[in-house]
Amino acid sequence: MAAPELSRLCPGCGFWLPTLAFSGADISARTGGNDRLCYPCRQERRDAIKFANRWVEKARATRRAHAKKLDISVPVLEHDYGWELARMACELEHAYGGNCPECGQAFVEMPNGIQDLTVDVIDRDAAPVWGVNTRPLCQTDNRRKGIATPAKRAAIALAYRIRRGQPAAARLFDMEPITPVVEPGRTPRPLLAVEQLPLGPK
Ligand SMILES: [Zn+2]
Ligand SMILES: [Zn+2]
Repeated sequence: MAAPELSRLCPGCGFWLPTLAFSGADISARTGGNDRLCYPCRQERRDAIKFANRWVEKARATRRAHAKKLDISVPVLEHDYGWELARMACELEHAYGGNCPECGQAFVEMPNGIQDLTVDVIDRDAAPVWGVNTRPLCQTDNRRKGIATPAKRAAIALAYRIRRGQPAAARLFDMEPITPVVEPGRTPRPLLAVEQLPLGPK
């Protein structure tokens, strides 16, 4: 089989490529736009546009999902409660550079990309005013909010804080073995309860 003839120049990547690597058979009939580009170049441009718009797209999807859940129309969310796409996109992008307010983990380090950033309507019985009654929250914590009690969520948040060393807490395997102190004529002291254990260095 003969090598395919490299007969057409792609202005995007600058390579001579087979004609079939382009969508339009007739070059002269097509004017401007991506029609002149090879398939890989066209794909690259589409991806770049998607990437540039990803926060607007995320804002749009987020607003649509909340509108459905809250049973409030998108125009009402936008005009009465301030869910404006440009503002939402800007604030979501900014929030993504920070940490989840509940578990304290960095959004960028979560495994699912920007999907891990969600919008939480803080008080679900109050008006969902954007920026007042909303906050960024990781997907895991947002799901948990629907099923776990506030006490459980607070305990989990504390566990995350302790893992980060704020506040410092002693770990079982960092500690000296505890030897019961026995004084003459007395019964051994009971072992310390967990809340009485000495705290590690700050
Ligand atoms: Zn190309
Ligand atoms: Zn979280």
